[in-house]
Amino acid sequence: MSENKRRTRRQRKSNDITDKKLNSKARRKLVWVFSAVILALVGLIFRITYINAVSGEKYKRQVLTQSQQQYESRVIPFKRGDIYDAKGTLLATSEKVYNVILDCKVVNSKDTYVDPTVKAMVSVLGIDEEEIRSRLTDAKTKSSQYQVIRKEVSITDKKAFEEYCDVSAEGQELSQEEIIERRRVKGVWFEEEYIRRYPLNMLGCDVIGFANSGNVADWGIEGYYSSVLNGINGRQYGYFNSDADVEQTIIEPKNGYSVVSTIDVNIQGIVEDKINEFMVGLSNGPNGNRGARNIGVIVADPNDGSILAMGSSDSFDLNNPRDLTGHYSEEEIAAMTDEDKVNSLNKIWKNFCISDVFEPGSTAKPMTIGAALDEGSITADSTYYCDGFQEVAGERIKCALTSGHGEQTLAEVMKNSCNDALMQIAAKMGIEEFIRYQNIFNMGYKTGIDLPGEATGITYNINSMGAVQLATCSFGQGDTCTMIQEIAAVSSTINGGYYYQPRVVNKVLDSNGSVVENIDSLLLKQTVSEETSTHIREWMGAVVEPNGTGRYAKVDGYSMGGKTGTAQKIPRGNGKYLLSFIGFAPLDNPEVVVYVVVDEPNVEGQAVSTYAQYIYQGVMKEILPYLGVFPDEELTGINADITLNSVLNQHGEALAVPIEQVEDLAVPEPQEVDAEVRSGNDGQEEGFTNDEMDRMAGQ
Ligand SMILES: [Zn+2]
Repeated sequence: MSENKRRTRRQRKSNDITDKKLNSKARRKLVWVFSAVILALVGLIFRITYINAVSGEKYKRQVLTQSQQQYESRVIPFKRGDIYDAKGTLLATSEKVYNVILDCKVVNSKDTYVDPTVKAMVSVLGIDEEEIRSRLTDAKTKSSQYQVIRKEVSITDKKAFEEYCDVSAEGQELSQEEIIERRRVKGVWFEEEYIRRYPLNMLGCDVIGFANSGNVADWGIEGYYSSVLNGINGRQYGYFNSDADVEQTIIEPKNGYSVVSTIDVNIQGIVEDKINEFMVGLSNGPNGNRGARNIGVIVADPNDGSILAMGSSDSFDLNNPRDLTGHYSEEEIAAMTDEDKVNSLNKIWKNFCISDVFEPGSTAKPMTIGAALDEGSITADSTYYCDGFQEVAGERIKCALTSGHGEQTLAEVMKNSCNDALMQIAAKMGIEEFIRYQNIFNMGYKTGIDLPGEATGITYNINSMGAVQLATCSFGQGDTCTMIQEIAAVSSTINGGYYYQPRVVNKVLDSNGSVVENIDSLLLKQTVSEETSTHIREWMGAVVEPNGTGRYAKVDGYSMGGKTGTAQKIPRGNGKYLLSFIGFAPLDNPEVVVYVVVDEPNVEGQAVSTYAQYIYQGVMKEILPYLGVFPDEELTGINADITLNSVLNQHGEALAVPIEQVEDLAVPEPQEVDAEVRSGNDGQEEGFTNDEMDRMAGQ
């Protein structure tokens, strides 16, 4: 404490000088103040020493990083996982690109930095000179430390820029002037980013979906598995150490998992080709330039619920999902408000096969007959007489063939798609049993497929269903469902009675490609017995026989079964129909099931399911050999000459064989009960749950 001694000496000297002026009271006060100050200083020194020892590093770092903001922490983005098809084809991936960031504050910190920096960016990266200079001079940006001057620069361009700045690199013969100039390139750095790419563009768009910037996704596999595909960002911290060197700490990002879809791009491609052929082929019809209002096709494995392909007529480019030009004319787009555009895009992005509900029509008959047989209301050898109509609660409900089908076995009922027989069968079951089986077949409930936006359709409940509703629902009119509900339910009637939850993804992989999780097929319930299922298969086989209503669906050389659907849309009598065909092969041991829906084909007479059969036949003909299903029947030449034109010419020679004809107004509209049932055909986005239906019925 020599300082203190010196201080005391100085104090004594000064006291001598001022002695005369200060009285003893004031002197005492002064001594007290000095002592207090000295004590405070000593305390402060102890405190500083203590803080320095305990937290010195922390504060030093804070001060240093604050003074050098370009070394503050930076995000290292994770790589979102890939999506593969069943055979390993890449459907969606993330590609690393770089954003060029301009730190205007650093560039402007010395006049000599500006020109060399601008020159480097123009000559190496091809960035517009005016753009750079305006950022460096504009009052709003000239002090900014983060200006994205160019997005999505390749690794090659990034390397070229870094080599340009690295004057010590070997092989460069630079003049002294050039070296000085290149050393003055400051304030440019590259920020990592990933952009999502879809190598197959439009193919499988409904199922794959797309991710927006920020790895946010709402549609398809991208949407449903978004949290699985996403990883965790890493971080890079940088600061100057006490020797003024840059110290860096890097926390590596955790990349997302990849998923493997059950979709097979080869089958998906075949499906989309057939849909497109139809849309183009009928684009000159009486109702505008769309070949149909909607077309949907699902290909599935009936033995485990795997979806092999799923497509609809509203395709879009996953790499450019907001482009409306393929869907609307320039004038139409110009006339759209922002809200119109959003609505149009949502309509295009929506997956018709799982989000649109409709009255299925006669493809519901395998379920009705299966239920009645299973619960014992009918037996396999029961016969039914069709006189062309059925009188139900004072309402005359007609069969498709108004002259009547006469006496029929169940195989003939299925083959002729006889409504009269179905109404008799449902009446025998009664409302309670009919609804019980609707629930067993999962109608009115989501299937739980691993895709967002699934609707449920609307079904009657025990309170809302009357005799007329029972009669019409027996042949698929009155209740509504989605394509995915229908194919899952029918699959269970033909595979031995097993209801599998449909799925589009079956594996999750880590970033090294190792399996993290196998998503097994999920058997939810038994709908009908093995024995019932065997009968249903056999009777559906009759449908595609040469004189059956599904004759045009038959692929020559292959045993198969199926069912037509020709549903009158609401309001009845407007000539609008939803046509469908669901079928499978081989007949005794189904390996693949295909469901085709053609909503309002662009033709004069819509009421023939042949349009759907044509697409079905085209798809099956190509995928059966691809799937390794061998022909198991003699060739007969059936459907060898079927073309889209021959289908269009319904009354021509080529198709002068019995077809399912439906008369307008044959089916009454869903009645009174509750208005909500009637609105079921409006493509209700989410449909209603059975609980909601119960509440509505209770009102
Ligand atoms: Zn009939």
